Amino acid sequence: MKNNNINITKRERDCIITIGKNRNQSFPTRISFIAKSLDMKMPTVEEIIKRLVEKGLVQKEAGMVLLTEKGNNCYEEIIMKHRVMETFLFECGVNADEACREVSRFDYLIDSESADKIIEKIGKPEKCPHGFKIIESKR
Ligand SMILES: [Zn+2]
Repeated sequence: MKNNNINITKRERDCIITIGKNRNQSFPTRISFIAKSLDMKMPTVEEIIKRLVEKGLVQKEAGMVLLTEKGNNCYEEIIMKHRVMETFLFECGVNADEACREVSRFDYLIDSESADKIIEKIGKPEKCPHGFKIIESKR
């Protein structure tokens, strides 16, 4: 099976998601914002961001933290996989918020091909239980 996942840790995943969710806001994402959002210490976030910069997923610019193109793609992949798995669990009878929490622990580890197969299997749903489009983010 082809694995096109980018090798990241759970904490790196959480930082990418936080930066990605904030990308359309008028205020820029700063380390302090990420630390606050994820309830982590500033030096910890600094360290994670440093690794994400090394991996080419994030760039720092005048105190702001931005996703690179590669980082954006990674973010969109994770979101798509998250929503697919969330929808799958929801259809199995798991409460939507519980499904969201649970899937957040492993969404970034799912293979893209597997995610596509799950979409097929559950009848190509358009939206996740929270009403967000599943495929919108897919390139
Ligand atoms: Zn969710």
